[in-house]
Amino acid sequence: MSARPARRGDRVPALDVEAIRAQFPILATRMRGRPLVYLDSAASAQKPRAVIEALSRFYERDYANIHRGVYELSQRASALHDAARQKVARFLGAADAREIVFVRNATEGVNLVAHAFLEPRLGPGDEILLTEMEHHANIVPWQLVAGRRGAKVVPVPITEAGELRLEDIAERIGPRTKMLAVTWVSNVLGTVNPVHEIAALARRRGVPFLVDAAQAAPHLAIDVRALGADFLVFSAHKTYGPSGVGVLWGRAELLDAMPPWQGGGDMIERVSFAGTTFNEIPFRFEAGTPDIAGIHATGAALDWLEAVGLDAVHAHEEALVAQALERLSRVRGLRVLGRPRARAAVVAFTIDGLHPQDVGTLLDLDGIAIRTGHHCAMPLHERFGLPASARASMGVYTTPQEIDALGCALERIVARFA
Ligand code: PMP
Repeated sequence: MSARPARRGDRVPALDVEAIRAQFPILATRMRGRPLVYLDSAASAQKPRAVIEALSRFYERDYANIHRGVYELSQRASALHDAARQKVARFLGAADAREIVFVRNATEGVNLVAHAFLEPRLGPGDEILLTEMEHHANIVPWQLVAGRRGAKVVPVPITEAGELRLEDIAERIGPRTKMLAVTWVSNVLGTVNPVHEIAALARRRGVPFLVDAAQAAPHLAIDVRALGADFLVFSAHKTYGPSGVGVLWGRAELLDAMPPWQGGGDMIERVSFAGTTFNEIPFRFEAGTPDIAGIHATGAALDWLEAVGLDAVHAHEEALVAQALERLSRVRGLRVLGRPRARAAVVAFTIDGLHPQDVGTLLDLDGIAIRTGHHCAMPLHERFGLPASARASMGVYTTPQEIDALGCALERIVARFA
């Protein structure tokens, strides 16, 4: 797998979207008597048969608790679990599988870093630098620790186009800045942020840097070693894997120096009432029984995505997003939020005279599933003076016909209701 998305001029294998779709059973279902047009992959992606079968096969043949039993079945489950961690490490280009911590979702990964890494280093008056385009998952955990420590969260503004400017970040980094956390891809604007440059800046200024890759992992090849950040999180469920599994990647030396967060089984070395010592990384951060089958199926999802090829996925989605922007521009009164130069497969919009909620409900009558509301990004909507928007997001299985169906349905809705 390449460490970077495809560029113009690269030869990228074309993606056979019909063959891909055939692997997603849910895409053959009908909604309200019509073929399902699923344009909400940024909220959660649908699952290929490889993932569904990995999950059911694991329960049928391989299931037992891990790292505990001496019996064969437990050892087999443990070996599959360890293999899944290796797969995630490979997917992220991590130097070492010890840098992969399994959590419930991206949100929990951010909370873990906020509590175990940042909170002990945070004092009154310190600052945590975020951006106006963050998902609540990359805002609220920082606010919670800031509140407890008398520190504050400082948002970096974004431009009208929906982009970050490096100088706006650089300007706000000062001696009190103890953390920088930025989304790689905005879940509303689709903006692909220059996280490599931001990481270089953070490094030069000695500020720990967390990348929220929840919306990047399904679309872009990741190589944490080339990236140069300190922490990165993503969720399996947006990456064609099961719900209930998330990943925190952290530099081994940082994880190693962090105290535990949650206590319980598996994260200890020795427990006595006189005191407890803790396990090594990553187990120190994995208290209790994890989603054993889900983690196994996450490995299957990443295998599947790598076999499709992230360069091919990226090229496919780039074409879809260009088509969507053109098609939606023909809908009367429709305004797309932001015009970032680099945009992943997400388009948020409003339509004059129509509430986004009504747009979503009317599209649903045509079997078209989009997201409406604030998309867990209230500060971003506030920045654009909007209470809400509608959002169409695409995935590896999205077709040009579906984008056209969205455009036609919106035109009918505007003609009737706007
Ligand atoms: N960050 C971004 C950019 C997201 O889009 C999301 C999910 N909408 C999250 C974080 C949180 O992901 P999860 O709910 O899986 O923890």
